[in-house]
Amino acid sequence: MSTITTQQMRFWSPAVRELEPYTPGEQPKIQNLLKLNTNENPYPPSPKVVEAVQAVLENSADVLRLYPDPDASALKQAIAAQQNVDVSNIFVGNGSDEVLAHIFKAFFVQEQPLLYPDITYSFYPVYSQFFGVKTKVLPLNDAFEIVVDDYKQANGGIIITNPNAPTSIALGLSAIEEVMQANPDSVVVIDEAYVDFGAESAVNLVEKYENLVVCQTTSKSRSLAGLRVGFAIAQPHLIAALEAVKNSFNSYPMDRFAIAAAVASFEDQTYFEAQCQKVIDSREKVVTDLEAIGFKILPSKANFIFASLLSKDAAELAAELRERGIIVRYFNKPRINQYLRITIGTDEQNQRLVDTLNEILA
Ligand SMILES: *Cc1c(COP(=O)(O)O)cnc(C)c1O
Repeated sequence: MSTITTQQMRFWSPAVRELEPYTPGEQPKIQNLLKLNTNENPYPPSPKVVEAVQAVLENSADVLRLYPDPDASALKQAIAAQQNVDVSNIFVGNGSDEVLAHIFKAFFVQEQPLLYPDITYSFYPVYSQFFGVKTKVLPLNDAFEIVVDDYKQANGGIIITNPNAPTSIALGLSAIEEVMQANPDSVVVIDEAYVDFGAESAVNLVEKYENLVVCQTTSKSRSLAGLRVGFAIAQPHLIAALEAVKNSFNSYPMDRFAIAAAVASFEDQTYFEAQCQKVIDSREKVVTDLEAIGFKILPSKANFIFASLLSKDAAELAAELRERGIIVRYFNKPRINQYLRITIGTDEQNQRLVDTLNEILA
């Protein structure tokens, strides 16, 4: 991007001049690149997803002339059936990033601060600044775990990623319930972007807690990052606030392809479970292989691992991997600047990672 002068900046809204936007993991176009940097799924989506997208056009290309269903009700129904909740409990959006944006606007602009951990999804500080949400950042402990007792103070909302990112560590349901019990008067959001890789979902608690919102995405466990479909599950009075925000921003966030493709994905539970299990099995194998080389790896319930090596600077290691066509995510941030976040690939891809690391460290 070319540099913008202060002179040119005068056209920008004052608040926009101050924004510090989120930096997405890069999507470079390098030959034979092994991309282990943005937690995409190494497997394709269900073949039924591709059929469903083709069927949208085959039925009649004329459908693209018409707006999609503003309510995406077919998608809400498919998610409700798969998650075993009522359709009135479902909100859908253009990726869970958009769902989270609406959550921040709908619930967290309060007198009291929003609570979240110091090491977590880096979009939370961005949305907080964007929507003017006050925040209080609570440090994870030395083992990078959430300290549940910290979440028993005055607040205007709580957001917890579970399993957390980039640490990969999951919080048990009893800990989540402890947070719920301590906070009956503010909205608690559990961002479950990675929950399908072995953690316990809080969806079953939605019926019990009127202030709980569970947020999930099709981007990781359903191999649909390119589709942009995320959703939230909560009681209807919370869904109503999200719908009000959504309909004040973009009434048609889900296009016809996204709706059809995501419906097909939620209807193919067998394929979904098999793919998740493959990723989990590959994770266990690559953890063993990397530990054998000397890596310390946090206990992962996600489709990525958070790994560090005492004998080598993490930034240098990331750079050397990159020279050899493998990209992983490095965060130049306090406490985690000696860790690499590595997405779980296929067994073959993981083997290439292990071999390349052996080569670098030899
Ligand atoms: C990937 C991710 C998201 C965003 O997912 P999209 O649906 O692709 O927007 C949200 N939260 C966390 C913690 C994530 O890692």
